Amino acid sequence: MEITREIFWNVGSGVRIPVYLLGLIVLVILIYGLVRHIRLWRIGKPENRIDKPFKRIVSFLLFGLGHKRILKEPYPGIMHLFLFSGFLVLFIGTVLIFVQEDFTKLLFDKIFISGNFYLIFSFLLDLFGLLAIIGVLLALFRRYVLKPERLDNKFEDALVLIVLLVILLTGFTNEGLRIASNSPEFERWSFVGWQFSKLFVALGSSGGSAESLHLVSWWIHIILAFGFIGYISYSRLLHLISSPLNQFFRSFSPKGEVAPILDIENAETFGVAKLSEFTWKQLFDTDACTRCGRCQDNCPAYLSEKPLSPKKVIQDLKDHLVLQGKTSSQKETSEDQSPSISGSVITEDELWACTTCGACQEVCPVFVEVVDKVVDLRRHLVLMESKFAPEVKLFFKNMETNYNPWAIGFATRGDWAKDLKVKIVAEDRDVDYLFWVGCAGSFDERNKKVSRTLVNLLEKAGVNFGILGAEEMCCGETARRMGNEYLAQILMQQQIEVFNKYGIKKIITYCPHCFNTFKNEYPQFGGKYEVFHHTEFLWDLIQKKKLKLSTGVEMSVVYHDSCYLGRYNDIYDAPRKLLESIEDTRVSEMKRNRDRSFCCGAGGGRMWMEETLGKRINQMRVEQAVETNASVLATACPYCLTMLGDGIKEKEMEQLISAFDVAELVEKAL
Ligand code: SF4
Ligand code: SF4
Repeated sequence: MEITREIFWNVGSGVRIPVYLLGLIVLVILIYGLVRHIRLWRIGKPENRIDKPFKRIVSFLLFGLGHKRILKEPYPGIMHLFLFSGFLVLFIGTVLIFVQEDFTKLLFDKIFISGNFYLIFSFLLDLFGLLAIIGVLLALFRRYVLKPERLDNKFEDALVLIVLLVILLTGFTNEGLRIASNSPEFERWSFVGWQFSKLFVALGSSGGSAESLHLVSWWIHIILAFGFIGYISYSRLLHLISSPLNQFFRSFSPKGEVAPILDIENAETFGVAKLSEFTWKQLFDTDACTRCGRCQDNCPAYLSEKPLSPKKVIQDLKDHLVLQGKTSSQKETSEDQSPSISGSVITEDELWACTTCGACQEVCPVFVEVVDKVVDLRRHLVLMESKFAPEVKLFFKNMETNYNPWAIGFATRGDWAKDLKVKIVAEDRDVDYLFWVGCAGSFDERNKKVSRTLVNLLEKAGVNFGILGAEEMCCGETARRMGNEYLAQILMQQQIEVFNKYGIKKIITYCPHCFNTFKNEYPQFGGKYEVFHHTEFLWDLIQKKKLKLSTGVEMSVVYHDSCYLGRYNDIYDAPRKLLESIEDTRVSEMKRNRDRSFCCGAGGGRMWMEETLGKRINQMRVEQAVETNASVLATACPYCLTMLGDGIKEKEMEQLISAFDVAELVEKAL
């Protein structure tokens, strides 16, 4: 007997025409739905997301096909991989059968799925079909038995999973009945179908009766499969198309970069009030979101019971977009009649609760971008509607008058170093590095100690450096993330002029917020520098033996990753290596560490705002540190140092743990 399928068309060639017609109708329904979505995405402004094609293809292969991010969480990762790979292989198999049966066989009387290829083909299709069934069962178990809090259940979630299961089972039923009709031995390679066939034979369905049942099962399978395809563009199944595309269209700008408002002097509106002021990609994100809830699970605002969930923000924007599509004709849509988003679709409390920590984006398997949307919506509130809390107003005023968040005279900025004989660049330009002190390092008592420590370490290592003193201003980071792009650009441009005046090329800073801004955002205005975070710089000095750690320090340290150093700039190892290089020091980790680190609560301007809703984020982080039994909580960021130090005091945990900058611990070992 020839090794191939003998009765694929036992349903009779007469079904070809109805199946083709059905397929055509389904295709039209699918395309019509897609066109409606494309029209909605096109409401947004243009944005180039097809540059760097090679990187984009690699991203698609790694994160889409390879599931690189999804697999970071084993259960949902493997579940999704089984489902995805199962359906992909079954789809390819179906296309090959279609090509053979409807083209090569029909036109040239040639079959290619035969012999050993047929055996392997049958085996693989059964294997991946089985994996897909396991995937569906795992999904059902997780969603309806384990019920993780991050998953919200809608009717369509259950519908989709049940229909998928029935499609897979009817697929195997078809195969089992086909095999049962004459049971050729080689069909053992279809190991699942073979078991189904044995069941049918045992139940008395073989030969002709199997063929009749096959016809019924075949039609159920075809109708459900076509229905499933048609449903894609009208349901959450759209993510089958939009999520891989989002992995292709993802941003390749530095992670810590916020896009500027270009030509701000001549701009008539600022930020985003309406859907049409987002870019098409920002709108596309809302359709790529799979509602997996990973972002929510890692959001410090959500976990501290603030009224913000990044998943909800994206879903609310999506609902708003869909409503827009329903209520407007395409002509009206392009003119955008939508109401203002801030305050209605997304509440002001939600917008101001965000610490811009980036945790949501870092874990999102499909690269949905959240922070840019929050900043854009804040820009509108701040620059167009002047809606912000009194403490934010005070922050802006202090920045405008004294270039720092405190109401301290700008001329005293360098006073912390008066007794240290540090070079002031205006007096002596012969420096290799600018030590950028930052607002906290210049004015905050606790952080001034860190500045002095760094001066000591740099001097001991023989580094030729200077500071700007009174000519240093705020780098503009916080004003920018609070939505005051106008103020941020003024600060940035003024500072660039100062850097240019002194020919500054290399900057050392111990504030990750300043570090990120100089490295990733100053280039937007022509300021390009070599920027070093102090932990990287100190580690390099130790490796080059310019700094020698000679004394052991017995302590148990847990390191807290700053969001702007770790997640946004991938600097995780240098601070840990510094700590590990101190003799007699034990370094431990909190459960939430490295790219999953938990924000201290200060980013995005939250440092300067009252925390009146929910729990205090800094206290939650301190509790996480205390759980490790470490006695020292090390950080590498002045914001984190302040927040964690405050958290320790507020929780009255001074006897258990103390907060230090990594540099201060290194200094102890000199
Ligand atoms: S950036 Fe951080 S605080 Fe803001 S939504 Fe994302 S995870 Fe939450
Ligand atoms: S934004 Fe990303 S992480 Fe959050 S629910 Fe959507 S897909 Fe999941």
